[in-house]
Amino acid sequence: MQETSLKGRKFTGATRPPKTYSQSRTCTQKGCETRLSQYNRREWCYTHAPTKYPRLRGRIVKADA
Ligand SMILES: [Zn+2]
Repeated sequence: MQETSLKGRKFTGATRPPKTYSQSRTCTQKGCETRLSQYNRREWCYTHAPTKYPRLRGRIVKADA
């Protein structure tokens, strides 16, 4: 005989809704209308996302003149 231990099982875990951002967002870049995923927290599409500039042989490039 098999005893069912599922009896009286409680669901204690609170149901959390998945983190979503406002729907139908588009890239912040002007003129770019690439749709962003609502799970994407960036404000730019993959193409316009700011990227870190790679170091050029340890040379420091001054951004401000
Ligand atoms: Zn874009």
